[in-house]
Amino acid sequence: LDPKAQTVLDEIEEHNVDFLRIQFTDILGTVKNVSIPASQAEKAFTEGIYFDGSSIEGFVRIQESDMRLRPDPNTFALLPWKTRDDGTASARLIADVTDASGADFKGDPRHVLKRALKRAGDMGYTLNAGPEPEFFLFEEEDGRATTITHDAGGYFDLAPKDLASDVRRDIIYGLEKMGFEVEASHHEVAEGQHEIDFKYDDGLTTADNIATFRAVVRAIAAEHDLHSTFMPKPIAGINGSGMHTHLSLFTEDGENVFHDEDDEFNLSETAKQFLAGVLEHAPAITAVCNPTVNSYKRLVPGYEAPVYVAWSDVNRTALIRKPAARTPAASRVELRSPDPSCNPYLALAVMLHAGLDGIERGLDAPDPVRENIYEFDESTREEYNIDVLPPNLGAAIDALEADDVILDALGKHVAEKFIEAKRAEFDEYRVAVSEWELEKYLETF
Ligand code: ADP
Ligand code: MG
Ligand code: MG
Ligand code: MG
Ligand code: MG
Repeated sequence: LDPKAQTVLDEIEEHNVDFLRIQFTDILGTVKNVSIPASQAEKAFTEGIYFDGSSIEGFVRIQESDMRLRPDPNTFALLPWKTRDDGTASARLIADVTDASGADFKGDPRHVLKRALKRAGDMGYTLNAGPEPEFFLFEEEDGRATTITHDAGGYFDLAPKDLASDVRRDIIYGLEKMGFEVEASHHEVAEGQHEIDFKYDDGLTTADNIATFRAVVRAIAAEHDLHSTFMPKPIAGINGSGMHTHLSLFTEDGENVFHDEDDEFNLSETAKQFLAGVLEHAPAITAVCNPTVNSYKRLVPGYEAPVYVAWSDVNRTALIRKPAARTPAASRVELRSPDPSCNPYLALAVMLHAGLDGIERGLDAPDPVRENIYEFDESTREEYNIDVLPPNLGAAIDALEADDVILDALGKHVAEKFIEAKRAEFDEYRVAVSEWELEKYLETF
């Protein structure tokens, strides 16, 4: 038995764990769970856990449905909201998906990310990624989610003013118990909206963390009878929820390749090439980083969400920002388009491949744009050579289909299933008749 797996077995003993949740993520980013009694943990590590892959969206056809889960012992964590009065506890493990023979399954998003990290590794780099996920907390009514923000409700009810920060505090305790280092948390611009930033880590850990983060927020909000949502734009006219993603490449010795003391922006040539790669592939990666119809209701001018393909060291209207860095380790670029409805494994994989492509091809970064790009007219944008992000999911899928680098990043299996599912989603939206249309036209015509 792998020594790390043995450590997990010891922890299972020590904490009186009776059930293990084995988790993996499907192509659309939905977390799937298989629960096993803790007594089966050793077997799970040595033989894996068999399951029927055809029951999972976008995985396999029925004739090749025998799949296996291989739990990653590095991902063991107790579920803090599942510790029971009798002293027993539940824990989770994140698993890789393999076929029946034990070979990596090409349709597993975690495999797609590992492939991207391997490419970076072969070039001598490790990816560091730090996300800033935003979400809303809404009240529930008769067990159903509403869009009533609970802090507004609390305000009118004269409930204690810090009701929102109570929930946020419990979420942070939950995250810390699961091993997160929370760096910052605050109430966002919009009512009912929150942000919790946790410390950057290597790409795989960060993707796992984002999946875990969403589960923790959901579970702890529910304990407070609140509904949490990572939907990108739940309420028209107020800020949507993004997931800005900070990226840097380190050498194996932990030196930040993105830092250059002598550069005006403290960005190395490599960092600028990476940035240029992300800008070049921005339309295609939007399909993956902003994968819902609703994502495009956030990517509009006026709410600090990016619309234009440019970078800046000062303003927050650009797609990529170079945050001020106090130490060499903190030199990084911030991609501001991703939203928390994305599949974190696929999103980090496409961002990384886009950047590595820029490095491999030695692309030149354009000059930073220091003005408010929302205020540019079309001719100024043309003069600066600034592209616009796809305006909707359909256009984003078109851009993805036209970009071989990003298609390769996903791999044939995932690319086909993803495009098929997202086309269907967009078509369904296209034929739906919305409230807005009824209000606008029903009585006019
Ligand atoms: P903002 O100014 O956009 O709110 P923050 O200063 O809050 O950004 O930084 C957010 C994220 O950047 C955090 O998750 C932090 O850990 C991460 N971060 C810091 N240094 C690096 C780095 N070298 N590579 C990747 N992420 C980093
Ligand atoms: Mg922040
Ligand atoms: Mg900040
Ligand atoms: Mg924010
Ligand atoms: Mg940010």
